[in-house]
Amino acid sequence: MKWRLLDFLYPAICELCRKRLDHGRALCRSCANNLPRISEPFCKNCGEEFDGNLEEDFNCQNCLNLTHDFKFARAPLRGLENSFRLVHTLKYHRRFFVAADLAAFLQEAWEEDPRFREFEENCLIIPVPLYWRRQQWRHGNQAHELARELAALIEQPLSPALKRVRSTQTQTRLSRKERLSNLRGAFVIRKSQAKRLRGANVILIDDVFTTGATAHECTRILRHQGRVAKVAILTLVRG
Ligand SMILES: [Zn+2]
Ligand SMILES: [Zn+2]
Repeated sequence: MKWRLLDFLYPAICELCRKRLDHGRALCRSCANNLPRISEPFCKNCGEEFDGNLEEDFNCQNCLNLTHDFKFARAPLRGLENSFRLVHTLKYHRRFFVAADLAAFLQEAWEEDPRFREFEENCLIIPVPLYWRRQQWRHGNQAHELARELAALIEQPLSPALKRVRSTQTQTRLSRKERLSNLRGAFVIRKSQAKRLRGANVILIDDVFTTGATAHECTRILRHQGRVAKVAILTLVRG
């Protein structure tokens, strides 16, 4: 019923090629298949893809001298134009129905990457929160929409365990170090979720992974205040 009404108001068309859709809400099958996936070899910490065939372990330039609190970060899509267009649609155009189709890419990574098998027991899907004022302005939180759709697809529980208590200046022009200090104290654990968190294996969901500062700070709070067992990051795009 909900979809029928939406179909009537906005006939479903592909966000990338503008073709009319007969299934799904946002992407035609060929555009979905053509989106550039991240495949081996990629960094086992931050998910950045490397060119060529590497037989041995390699050092990722992004992760050199870095320690992450999370186990690993993984993204299904490379940070190319079309991937960013979809994120942008979801984020700024209030077209949250797009999340239903985009969560299928998160599911792909969840199913393909064996490291997620360690997260299936006692799992919680947690979105990176927005500050309420920003959320109001955007009429929702893109990470929450992605997390909700993924949780339904892989049949794992969703928990809004993190809350953003402080607005942070936009991070785009900051270095990783500046981002980290910018984020200190920005997140807290929601009291109502505290019990569920203890010992949980958390999949933290966001739209884009760039320097990992947000993921790192959320993980720190989840582990030290929420006492979760471990955290993996799953984002749509590796920016
Ligand atoms: Zn298309
Ligand atoms: Zn890396």
